[in-house]
Amino acid sequence: MSDLQNPNTHLTAKERSTPSLPVRMVHERGLILGKVLDFGCGFGKDLDFLHQKGFDVQGFDPHYFPQYPSDTFDTILCFYVLNVLFPEEQNQVLMQISSLLKPTGKAYFAVRRDIQKDGFRTHQVHGKPTYQCFVKLPYTSIFLNENTEFYEYKHINQATDNQAKCPFCKPASRLILLAETPLSYAVLDGYPVAKGHTLIVPKRHMADYFELTFEEQKDMVQLSVFVQKRIKADFQPDGFTTGMNIGKSAGQKFPHAALHLIPRYTGDCKNPSGGIRAILK
Ligand SMILES: [Zn+2]
Repeated sequence: MSDLQNPNTHLTAKERSTPSLPVRMVHERGLILGKVLDFGCGFGKDLDFLHQKGFDVQGFDPHYFPQYPSDTFDTILCFYVLNVLFPEEQNQVLMQISSLLKPTGKAYFAVRRDIQKDGFRTHQVHGKPTYQCFVKLPYTSIFLNENTEFYEYKHINQATDNQAKCPFCKPASRLILLAETPLSYAVLDGYPVAKGHTLIVPKRHMADYFELTFEEQKDMVQLSVFVQKRIKADFQPDGFTTGMNIGKSAGQKFPHAALHLIPRYTGDCKNPSGGIRAILK
């Protein structure tokens, strides 16, 4: 869908003669560790630099290096990618990176700070319309000047500075995080009622899903669509039951909204007839 509306993102890749500023900086600071992925690597100049430095690195770029990674990584680099994507495409990349990151891994994002106006413009070299927009992430800023900002990201349940008491505001580090966006996250439930039982949780502490902003509600839907693919691949369910407990009468235990995505397996109950309607039988 979005590919058709924003078709020229690959034209924004730069032919560089030297490695990018963010790759040099994260390397100088000793932040590149273990298995490394350059997500949105363009022509691969930073890949060459990291190979020369002896890193175990691979690249992914939907246009230039289209083989999607099948592994998980200790360090993921994503430099100057998000600025040329529509918001829902940015979210897709953030979900992909969070799910490709090992639980203790870290990702680094570089975004441009010199964009004057969001929208399409005619690319100076290629003469075709390319999109660009201002991007601000709620992750730890590790460098900022007038042209660029770098962020460090780790899974929400690996944060060491989270003082929240609510188990949904501060998900346990032992939980397996499937994917995350700036507004919500998906984890395998710590007390699953079925293999692959997943919770989609907004990051903001709100009991009632209907009181979340439309952006937050939409974000949870996008995340559920993303993670059901992984649940299907990992657990091969025959179907899903999905829903929310909203209010004590509906069985809600913690005052923090959560969407349950429960994989269903043929024969997992005596009579599945009526599905979710059977709750009140
Ligand atoms: Zn909470």
